[in-house]
Amino acid sequence: MKKRSHKDHKGLCVLCTFVSLCDFLYLIIMKLNPAEILDTLCEGGSVAAQLEHFEPRQAQLDLMELIIKCFNEDAIGAAEAGTGVGKSFAYLLPALHFAALNKERVVISTATITLQQQLFGKDIPLVVQASGLKIKSVLVKGRGNYLCFRRLEEALSEPELPLSGDPLGGERDELDRIAQWANTSKSGGREEIPFTPAENMWSRVCSDADLCMGKRCPQQTRCFVLALRKEAAAARVIVVNHHLLFADLAARREGAGYEAAVVLPPYSRVIIDEAHTIEDAATSFFSKEFSKLSIMRHVGRLYRRRRAQRNGLLVRFCSLISDGEGSLDTLVAALDGIRLAAGELDSPALDLCGTEGVFRFSPNSKDGGEDAARSAALFPLLNSLRKKLLAFTGLVRDLLELVPEEDGENAAGRIAAVWELKSILRRFETIAGICSAFSEYRERRHEVMWIERRGGSDDALPGEKGQWAVFTQSPVELAESLKESLFSPNKTVVCVSATLALSGSFNYWAIRSGAALAQEKSLLTGCFPSPFPYSRAALLAVPDDAPLPDEPEYQDFVNHAVGRLAAVSDGSALILFTSYQSLRSAWNVAQPELQNLGIRCLKQGDDDRSRLLQTFLADTRSVLFATDSFWEGVDAPGDTLRLVILCRLPFRTPNDPVFEARREAVEKNGGNPFMDLSLPEAVMKFKQGFGRLIRRSSDRGVVAVLDSRLIKKRYGAFFLQSLPETRTSFSDFPGILRDTEDFLWSPR
Ligand code: SF4
Repeated sequence: MKKRSHKDHKGLCVLCTFVSLCDFLYLIIMKLNPAEILDTLCEGGSVAAQLEHFEPRQAQLDLMELIIKCFNEDAIGAAEAGTGVGKSFAYLLPALHFAALNKERVVISTATITLQQQLFGKDIPLVVQASGLKIKSVLVKGRGNYLCFRRLEEALSEPELPLSGDPLGGERDELDRIAQWANTSKSGGREEIPFTPAENMWSRVCSDADLCMGKRCPQQTRCFVLALRKEAAAARVIVVNHHLLFADLAARREGAGYEAAVVLPPYSRVIIDEAHTIEDAATSFFSKEFSKLSIMRHVGRLYRRRRAQRNGLLVRFCSLISDGEGSLDTLVAALDGIRLAAGELDSPALDLCGTEGVFRFSPNSKDGGEDAARSAALFPLLNSLRKKLLAFTGLVRDLLELVPEEDGENAAGRIAAVWELKSILRRFETIAGICSAFSEYRERRHEVMWIERRGGSDDALPGEKGQWAVFTQSPVELAESLKESLFSPNKTVVCVSATLALSGSFNYWAIRSGAALAQEKSLLTGCFPSPFPYSRAALLAVPDDAPLPDEPEYQDFVNHAVGRLAAVSDGSALILFTSYQSLRSAWNVAQPELQNLGIRCLKQGDDDRSRLLQTFLADTRSVLFATDSFWEGVDAPGDTLRLVILCRLPFRTPNDPVFEARREAVEKNGGNPFMDLSLPEAVMKFKQGFGRLIRRSSDRGVVAVLDSRLIKKRYGAFFLQSLPETRTSFSDFPGILRDTEDFLWSPR
């Protein structure tokens, strides 16, 4: 008799109907009600009532409306929101409401830890409480921020760690203190440690994706990272940084798919704040690098000899196999070969970096040219290192076959040692791959191979002690991979920043980020101006008699101008340079003058970034001389900052290898490298620098730009148009000094 399937019914099958109805309901998105959410941020609204110094802002409501639309229409959003718009509430409200309504997960990614902490510690709890939403949120940092119990145990079991009083330092004591803290810590997060562990000590005990044994780890029941993963799986809102987001997206694109938990649990709605940085963040994530230092660190993990004692992973590994002693000698000899080859490579590579500190293997350099000849000398050394690395990994992989099954006595320790060893083998194989990529640089046009000198002081000169060369392989274009991994697979991607548009157009950002390639989706954009009264609170001063930056007198002009301007403002000044050489030159002239006036001078490189900023914020008469990274992310409201000096328009220097390769790619595709890349990039950075001045509606101050190209060159108009309307002083230097003084000190 024929079996009757549930599908054989003539009418509708209850089961099928139920299943397809469930599928259907699953696919239906409950749309956000814009009026309801906007109301919460209007006068008397539930969220507005919780905010200190609340002022209704139309720009904030307009921004929120755009973001609601992105959620309701599964669209990509790009929004430029000026300082003070209140962008975090404008995206948190739609995101949290959407997550609660649809039981979906939303990932919020930012560039800086400061913003992550503000969102997770302050803004999200406020929105949750005020809106009565039942939403769990979690802040997930990169693995390297959390302690790994297994690695800690292993480090503690190393017999040769020096005790306090030992000339090599009290590593054992520091480790004991970390262990004590770990036993009572709730999160295992590095920032919770009541002292600052040495970098090399923390790197030995922090979690590392390559070294994590996951479900096979003997410490899994108390593991901080696994506990956090569980928490994230139960959360509807996850706050991360761009690096972690890219780690997750890359793993998904490489085959893990979008339905499973990878680095993060699955999601399909993303908000990216500080979105102007995504191309740089993705470049750094997708670049691969090695140095003599990183190789030596691995070599040290594998084998160390201290007095008569032999230690390290190889010693433990060889104790697991028969005739281990003989094998150990062979492996140590192979390791010595790696050490030697890495050492031989470093010195000529540093020479190649010359005074600029960087060298690009350019596929355009002629075979007979000087650059090509200089770089060619490196290939035999790279090849030798590659061979030595692969010879070593080959030897170990053969011996791994001889390790007995993973059970029996001391199995956990054995598994851990083999696990760590395999991860170093993978790392060595990656480095061997980078060596090959360098040798094939002429064929690999989608990548840039370059060497950079690191170490020494910030203004390091060639040959200074403590320097090393870093070999990096970076992708030239990221638009396609960002489209494939971020913009296309996710239903909603909202990108927000204070600088995304150029004269109201998002073209540049959309092309560079890959958003423009996701043509199956609508791209909703909008500019939301700052509510701050720039037209009366800010003066833009440009000396029209300043020499042009390529003229020999320019640096001398800057050296004297910065001190005189900072004297007029009585300190409270941030002086931004585009190179450390220029900073040093101006510092040498201006610092003694300002010091005589009792004004404290601070210089990038003298302390770490956050301590330097704290000192600057605490002393309202101080002056901070800084470069690159200080053009953004400095938040100094009130009297701490009344003068920002931008010494030069921030065009990237021609010795930036990745940027140069990108310029060449634009040209090859028929574009104009200056108009399509250099200029928009510089304008974005200029806007960031300008944005340091006014942080509150009561702030008042001057931005002095010592680069007269701003008013003399045609392209200067692009920079000027990108700024909010301010008062201006375009005259000779004595004129702008007078105007600065009047603006800052005359009674209003
Ligand atoms: S599961 Fe991974 S991170 Fe956690 S303790 Fe084990 S090895 Fe460390």
